[in-house]
Amino acid sequence: MKVICIGRNYSDHAKELNNPVPSKPMIFMKPPSALLVNNKPFYYPEFTNDLHYELELVVKICKNGRHIQPSYAHKYYEQVALGIDFTARDLQTECKQKGHPWEIAKGFDGAAPISDFVSLYNLNRTAIEFELHKNGTIVQKGNTKDMIFSIDQIIVYVSKFFKLQMGDIIYTGTPAGVGPVVIGDKLEGFLHTKDEILPMLSVEIK
Ligand code: MG
Repeated sequence: MKVICIGRNYSDHAKELNNPVPSKPMIFMKPPSALLVNNKPFYYPEFTNDLHYELELVVKICKNGRHIQPSYAHKYYEQVALGIDFTARDLQTECKQKGHPWEIAKGFDGAAPISDFVSLYNLNRTAIEFELHKNGTIVQKGNTKDMIFSIDQIIVYVSKFFKLQMGDIIYTGTPAGVGPVVIGDKLEGFLHTKDEILPMLSVEIK
């Protein structure tokens, strides 16, 4: 399975990192070994001094497809989760300055905590709200209606290059409010359903 990630998909986040707003989806991948499931603790890696959280809505692909057409894209996902795109910001900055790929900054072991998946049935499909709490305080609030590229547009674009296969997952980008974590912090992700705010993800930094 593939873990596909989209960068800079909310203009308020692109601005906070002084990045241009992209004209096409920006794609990178994490290896499946980056996934951290079942709310397991995350161990702060020794190779960074500036680890940042990025809470993102994650989509699971439910059938195989290549060159998916816009009017069919919605048929390729039925479930979503919340995930954190952990980023060693210091390493990423160094990679960007040198024009190097940034896998070591985003694809390391445990860099992709992910919740269980829930059905889209109980969500507002075109405006899914989610939020991240750090030590009990809200630090990120997102709504998929503010995405630069919608989930359907991402699926269309990604499938031009990569065959999408059942079980692949897509991290769809983070809204503004990213920031550092330190050992001892607790991150909690919540998803707004039609009738409740659902705790989805809880990660302790050890
Ligand atoms: Mg991200």
